[in-house]
Amino acid sequence: MIISIASGKGGTGKTTVATNLAVALGRDVQLLDCDVEEPNVHLFIHPTIEKTETITTPVPVVNEQKCTLCGKCGEICQFKAIAVIGKTILTFPELCHSCGGCAAVCPDDAIREEGRELGMIQVGHLNGLEFVHGKLRVGEAMSPPLIRKVRDYARTGRITIIDAPPGTSCPVIAAMKDTDFVLLVTEPTPFGLHDLKLAVGAVRILKIPCGLVINRADMGDDKVKHYAEAEALPILMEIPFDRRIAEVYSRGELLVEAMPGWKEKFLELYSRIEARIEENSPLRQD
Ligand code: SF4
Ligand code: SF4
Repeated sequence: MIISIASGKGGTGKTTVATNLAVALGRDVQLLDCDVEEPNVHLFIHPTIEKTETITTPVPVVNEQKCTLCGKCGEICQFKAIAVIGKTILTFPELCHSCGGCAAVCPDDAIREEGRELGMIQVGHLNGLEFVHGKLRVGEAMSPPLIRKVRDYARTGRITIIDAPPGTSCPVIAAMKDTDFVLLVTEPTPFGLHDLKLAVGAVRILKIPCGLVINRADMGDDKVKHYAEAEALPILMEIPFDRRIAEVYSRGELLVEAMPGWKEKFLELYSRIEARIEENSPLRQD
């Protein structure tokens, strides 16, 4: 079972939910931090890192001795990452999506592929909990390929929890796609509601059952709840606006370890997710 934890915007408590849920469940759980631009799960669970792997993506390199400047590679490239300009062939590796199309169409075998560094992946554990995160190289704009590499570590027979990047663009789609359930973490504010609507729109396109966690639930207004009711989105957990919770978070600790009763609440959250998956949420349109 793969559960992705997402939010329309940053700062809603997505990582709090992902880490506490994973640690409450304990063994036979994987926690994949796919927020590769700003991974922070490790700051809360303090895993022992066992392996670090550099991740590259193939980009074209042209042999100018062989190139006849026919332009076929530029015609097939959808991302303007390779082009014949005058009497020169230019490549723009940072625009390349590594589809391999240019090398495939080159009639003169003038293109070979070379790895361009995207970032790194680290793998570790905390007791029986398996931990994986990706770190995007500073200056790198293309995060989905690295996110997919982190996701490759998901193994069947385990509960896999994904901490997705914030937002609703390509990186979060790469993290949520083909998961069994999306847990959307939001807050009862106008910004929270606005971004929640965008996130729900993305989840509906992907046809994945979803539910909500409302963080800082007793501040703001009831508009998020009214929206959830109107859209038949189940509210699976509410976390109150509580100074003690903020203090636990600011110390880099986990609710399930620092405050009595929260482990049971997160286990109950998991039971509700399981039930929703079994019911196959009405949002799923097969
Ligand atoms: S591999 Fe694909 S995206 Fe990259 S330059 Fe070639 S055609 Fe363009
Ligand atoms: S397809 Fe091959 S030969 Fe033609 S311009 Fe591109 S690299 Fe050169």
